[in-house]
Order: sequence, then C-alpha cells, then structure tokens
Amino acid sequence: MIEFQNVSVTYGERIHALQNLTLAIPEGQFVCLVGLTGSGKSTILKLLLREIRATQGRVIVRGRDLAAIPWKHVPDVRRNIGLIPQDIGLLPNKKVWENLAYAMRAAGHARREVRQKVPEMLERFGVLHRADAFPAELSGGEQQRVAIARALINNPAILLADEPTAHLDPETSLEIVGVLQAINTRGTTVIMATHDMVSVSDLRKRTVRLDAGKVIEDIPEEQIVA
Ligand code: ADP
Ligand code: MG
Repeated sequence: MIEFQNVSVTYGERIHALQNLTLAIPEGQFVCLVGLTGSGKSTILKLLLREIRATQGRVIVRGRDLAAIPWKHVPDVRRNIGLIPQDIGLLPNKKVWENLAYAMRAAGHARREVRQKVPEMLERFGVLHRADAFPAELSGGEQQRVAIARALINNPAILLADEPTAHLDPETSLEIVGVLQAINTRGTTVIMATHDMVSVSDLRKRTVRLDAGKVIEDIPEEQIVA
C-alpha cells in the first residue's frame, strides 16, 4: 500500500536526509521507525504527507505516485492520513472540543456531524471529561490523547505518529503506545517514528531501524523477541 522505491531526499545541496531508501508497508501494518535524531524518520513522514518531494526515487501510496499529484489534489492525499505531530500541535486558544471540531470543519463536515462525532472521539480516547479545557490545562498524556483523537476524526486509512512518547514519562508512554496499537487492531495502518526504544521493544511490532538516511535493519513482527 505504501512503497518507497530507491528514495533519496537532499535538503539544500549537502544534507542527505534519505539515501536510496526502499521500503514497503502493507495495508494494516504497524511499523516502528526507529533511529537516532537526524536519521531521517520525520523526512519519511513528510514525504507521505507530500510536505516534501523525493529528490530521487518514487513514493507510492495506494498506487499513486505522490510526486505526480498536482498541488490542488494534495489535500485529497492528506485527508487519507492522520498525523500526530511531534509538537502535538493543538491550537492553544481553542478548547479541546474546538480543536477536534476545527479539524472536521476543515475537511468539510457539516455542523451536525461535528456535534455527534467530536464527543464520540473524545469518549473513545478517554478525554471527554476534558472537552472544555484548553490544551495547556491538560497533562502530557491527555494532550497526546486529544492529538490522537484529532488525527483520527476524519477516518484516515493511515496514522502517522512522530515521536508520540517524546514528552511523556515511561508509564504514560506505554499507555499511549497501547492506544496506537488498539487503533491498528481496528484496521488503521500505523507508522510510529521514535527514538524511544523502551516503548518499541515492548510492542513487538515490525521495526525499521534507520541510520543516516538508510535502513540498517528491518525486523518483522514475528521475529521480535522479548
Ligand atoms: P529524524 O526525524 O530522524 O530526527 P529528520 O528526518 O528530521 O530526522 O532529519 C534528517 C536530516 O535532515 C537531519 O540531518 C536534519 O538535520 C536534516 N533536515 C531535516 N529537515 C531539514 C530542513 N528542512 N532543512 C535542512 N535540513 C533538514
Ligand atoms: Mg523527527
């Protein structure tokens, strides 16, 4: 469903963020992208969102070559993808429920649908009681749950999580990874970028290790032992 074929990304003239990367991710899979800071994890996510284009090679999502999609159709690509950004990215001046409503309205949903779906999603992720709070009033774990609810509110087939445990304590990290796992169980493809090996090793999902923009290890789910 997602294919990177010999993809290289060069920022400016000298920074080779990805080098001849080839990777296939079937529909419904849970993939952990691991590697040190600067190894190219976020660049992979940016390619999928068409925030950037490959300098060389092809990125194919559901049979479509992303580089060939005209600008005016890029929103269609993004509608199919939910993103949990590294900085969480909730609008600070809007309440929790407004953050979700905003995401739905931006995707063209009617107010009636928004009124129904927003509380449903907050409930599903255990933060309905925080609906009227502002993001700054939430704990890190609650903020991450709201970000997850927002990322999924338009039913994307693919969920991208960029360092979702970076600002959380170990216990809350495991909890959030568990939430992502549950989402995957319901059929969503999940790609989680992280340098936090602790939450990944317990998960035992496919783990693709990057170093300097190259895949140096790709361990399938069934081969990961505790
Ligand atoms: P990771 O997410 O694994 O930390 P990134 O994909 O963000 O890695 O970055 C890969 C490399 O590309 C790093 O060397 C980083 O400094 C560089 N890089 C990322 N974004 C840009 C950019 N917009 N301009 C220049 N260099 C960048
Ligand atoms: Mg990153």
